This record gives sequence, C-alpha cells and structure tokens, in this order.
Amino acid sequence: MAQVKLEHVTKRYDDVTAVDDMNLNIRDGEFVCLVGPSGCGKSTTMETIAGLTIPTEGEVWIGDREVTNLPPKDRGIAMVFQNIALFPHMDVYDNISFGLRLRDYPKDEIDKRVERASDIVQLEEMLERMPDEMSGGQRQRVAIARAIVRQPDVFLMDEPLANLDAKLRVHMRTELQRLHKELDTTIVYVTHDQAEAMTMSDRIAVIDGGELQQIDPPLVCYNEPANLFVAGFIGSPSMNFVNGTVTDGQIESKNFSVAFDPAMVDGIGPGDDVTVGIRPEDVYPVDESGGLAHPTAEIHARSDVLEPMGDEIFAYLLLGDGDTSMSQEAATDDQLLMSIEPDSNMQEEDDVSVVLDRRKIHLFDDATGDAITHGLVDVTGGDESTGAPAETDD
Ligand code: ADP
Repeated sequence: MAQVKLEHVTKRYDDVTAVDDMNLNIRDGEFVCLVGPSGCGKSTTMETIAGLTIPTEGEVWIGDREVTNLPPKDRGIAMVFQNIALFPHMDVYDNISFGLRLRDYPKDEIDKRVERASDIVQLEEMLERMPDEMSGGQRQRVAIARAIVRQPDVFLMDEPLANLDAKLRVHMRTELQRLHKELDTTIVYVTHDQAEAMTMSDRIAVIDGGELQQIDPPLVCYNEPANLFVAGFIGSPSMNFVNGTVTDGQIESKNFSVAFDPAMVDGIGPGDDVTVGIRPEDVYPVDESGGLAHPTAEIHARSDVLEPMGDEIFAYLLLGDGDTSMSQEAATDDQLLMSIEPDSNMQEEDDVSVVLDRRKIHLFDDATGDAITHGLVDVTGGDESTGAPAETDD
C-alpha cells in the first residue's frame, strides 16, 4: 500500500499540453478514478504514475519515494489495461504466474500467490483452462490476477472493462470493488465512463483539458460540482442549464424566475449573469410536488418527447414559445429535461406545469464557470413558503 502524489505535473507534446500543472494526492488504500472525456489527459496522467511517460515538469511520488524518473519496474506498481494480452499458448496458471517465474520466485511461493489471487478473482476452478476457452470477463480476471500476484503497492488500471459488454462491465465493477476491499490497496483507475467512476470510487478526479477540475467523493461531485464542466459531466442524463440574470432577490431567465435570498448567496449582485443548473430529478410536475418544502413558482411548459426507461420516464419539455430552431444556446433556455414516475399518464404534446426544487438549484458564474452556490434555500432556517426568499441567515 502506498499513497500516490503528483506535484505540479505537466506533460507537453510539441504544441499539445496533455497534462497541465496537475496536483493530485491519492491516499494510501484509496480507490480513485480519473474520469473525463476522450483526450482530456487521463491516460497521460496515469502514464506519469506508471513511469511510461516522464513529465515535462513536476514530480511523481509513490509512498515516500520520488519516482519521477524511475522505470516502471522499480515503482512497486502493477498495471491492467483495456487490451488484455494473455499468452494464448499458456493456461491460466502459467499466465498468472509468468512474471513470478521470470523472476525465479520459489515454486512454493508462486503456488501460494497464484492460489490466493485466483481465489480473489474466482478463477480457482479454471487454472488449467486456455485463454481461448474463456469469456472476455474471465480473461480480464486473469489479467487482474496476474497483477495481484506481483503484490504491488499500487494498482494502475486504464479502462480495463472497456472491451466487455455492458452487462459484464456492471458485474466486473462489483468485482473490482470487492477486490479493493479484499486487497486494501491503492487503486488508480482511468475511465471515460462517469457511471463507472461514480459506482466504484472513494474519490473521483474529474479532468478536462489536462487540468484537474475537482477531486471529491462521488456524491460530492454530484451534489456540489465545483464548476459547469463537472456539473455537466457527472450524472446521466446531464444537468439542465439555463441562462439567468440576477435581480434583487430573483434570478430571471427567459421563461421563468427563481426567488433567492441575497443574504444567503455570496458573490453575486443585481445585473450579474449566471448559469442556473437543475438536475432532471429535481424538476417536478406541480401535482406531484406536494411534499416539496421549497418549490419555485409554477413554470408552464409543453411535453415534447417522452422516453420511458422502465423505472422512470424522461420528459423533454419545451418552455415559453418553445422555438427550438433558435441558436443552440438560446434553445437550451427553452428546454428542460425532467424525470417523472414510470406510471405517470403524461402524454407527448400535453400542457404541463412544473416546479423546481429550490434546494437543488445550482448557480454558476457565467464568466468563469465556477460554482457560486448549491441550493437557493437555507435548509437550516425557516423558509417554508412557496417561491419566496428565505428571511434569515447566510
Ligand atoms: P485520454 O486518456 O483522456 O483520452 P490522453 O492522455 O491519451 O487522453 O491524451 C491527452 C492529449 O495528449 C490528447 O490531445 C492526445 O492527442 C495527446 N497525446 C497523448 N499522447 C501523445 C503522444 N505520445 N504524442 C502526442 N500527443 C499525445
């Protein structure tokens, strides 16, 4: 076990800055996912930890050693990649033990380690199988067992589940969490799939444009995203965003306004432009909003497209004149995605009235994209009215 630390790590390729002044502190025994869109610098970050890439600037630490310029074999790490390279002519036992045999470990020790690793990944009955007799998931487990027998201080995994089908991927997520619990080892895991990151990580490091945007537990990234990028990237379907302007005690947007208590929200004043964010599950049809302590005033809309998912329905609403032929930015002001109960009798083209949960409204600074506040209501204080600003507190 060991902590992993990146200090001001930058990696430039000619005119591309793949990683830009990255500071990361991954704790001993932690499971951290590096997540972000394709090309954001996740793999390059991982490669600097692995020693496959030497950073242009900055330092990499594993445990209490600076390893910036050490080769991978001297870093106490084991890697598992998306493309599993098993030796096709070797059975599972030989594949798992290959590295140990190469290093002349005693037979007893090899047997012991293979037995434990195959037990952890549940391959103990398959040690004599050949790779072509196994499923994709089983082959991936062989690759993981091969990493386990090395007894590394840190596991580095780069999209190890990307080639598996959707069902197996979900199953393997659970297996990896179990593995983490069992081994109690630091795991750094690269994925572009925010759902994978949400379900497995102790903390998620969200990366965009080579820069770390936020590193926090999954639910903190979800409920308190540091900026617009994280808010839009974490959560599926994505958060709704609407342009707004601050007036005295209100955020005015094209089709609705939202009351807030200026004393509760620092850093904005009348005339400021903000982006209002609300997740689909925090938008409610008026007749299902009875239990909501802090709804906005009613917003009138028309249901456009309904997508039944089985356990919920995604309702795409058009607001105002609903003119979606306008520019993309303007069009988002006229659309709202809402998640509703699966037994709702809403039909496409219905006129509907909805409210937003004011406790779940996020405001972002238009200029910087940084979050200003999460929630427009002081949930510790007395405001139980509809749409009215809270009277007290900050
Ligand atoms: P991700 O893993 O998030 O998809 P990468 O770390 O692979 O992103 O790449 C980040 C950026 O660095 C991309 O723009 C990519 O094209 C560039 N890049 C990565 N490796 C190299 C390389 N060896 N040479 C030049 N550019 C590279």
